[in-house]
Amino acid sequence: MPANYQAEVVGVFGQPVAENPTGVMQEAGFASAGLNWRYLNFEVPPEKLGAAMDAVDALGMRGINLTIPHKVAVIEFLDELAPEARAIGAVNTVRVEGSKKIGENTDGKGFLRGVRNDAGVDPSGKRVVLLGAGGAARAIGTELVLAGISDLLVVNRSQGRGSTMVGDLKAATGGPVRFQQWSGTFAVPAECDLLVNATSIGLYPDVNAAPDVDLSSARAGTLVADAVFNPPETRLLAAARERGLPTLDGLSMLVYQGVIAFEMWTGQSPDEAAMKSALRNALGVD
Ligand code: NDP
Repeated sequence: MPANYQAEVVGVFGQPVAENPTGVMQEAGFASAGLNWRYLNFEVPPEKLGAAMDAVDALGMRGINLTIPHKVAVIEFLDELAPEARAIGAVNTVRVEGSKKIGENTDGKGFLRGVRNDAGVDPSGKRVVLLGAGGAARAIGTELVLAGISDLLVVNRSQGRGSTMVGDLKAATGGPVRFQQWSGTFAVPAECDLLVNATSIGLYPDVNAAPDVDLSSARAGTLVADAVFNPPETRLLAAARERGLPTLDGLSMLVYQGVIAFEMWTGQSPDEAAMKSALRNALGVD
């Protein structure tokens, strides 16, 4: 057999990207599948995003992840947008199909896969409270509505961002979405099945911060999930566990959004355990 030294290349465009650990996880998946693929972190300033997307074509790259500040700006450089990414209004993954660059969003899909696989909960018919209205909340909220939840209450500090998100989500999905402004302590309603923190409260280095929510009114069995993955054990999750409530950490979402991007790029199912353990190692989590 002739030698083939040509690797396939994917990666992430962002600024900053030096501390982004996704590549460690993807390369563990490639190695486990015996694929000669590389994942590289590219520092791309906003004014160079168009040129960087042209390079995806020129270099024959198989796909790319987008992170801050490019998730919305990249849309103008794409040929197509998946319906979910259009509804969310942001793209974190581009897959290349022939000569087309197609925008996808795997964040909410990753969250959902974690709810199903790691927490063992089917979101269909569930009543959900979602804290936050930024990019992560939009992705999670959109996929939850598309998965058939029966009620989504978006709770956000700023009225403007929260009501815009709810308006966009209703227009895109026609789903059962409501907004409540967050002031003071939010008492979790007894009928809530799933509480999700999609704010950045509790994110390193503010590890002692916790969303101002009262869990004492939550019913037994309410699943408490956090998008924050650094640290994986947030104060919110610790408080939920103390009350005996089931929890789902942000590492689950992070791993599965990468697993789904891997599937989109390679057409193969990755070794999830290898990806997860590489990520936990990289983040120093045992
Ligand atoms: P954004 O900056 O887009 O949104 C931040 C949200 O947090 C806003 O709703 C903001 O409210 C709210 N918020 C921030 N600080 C406070 C506070 N002190 N009190 C009340 N609300 C607050 O961030 P993202 O949506 O991109 O990210 C949110 C979190 O999700 C981050 O921790 C990020 O690391 C995590 N994430 C995790 C992923 C994973 O795979 N696990 C993937 C993507 C993100 P307001 O509108 O009022 O400002």
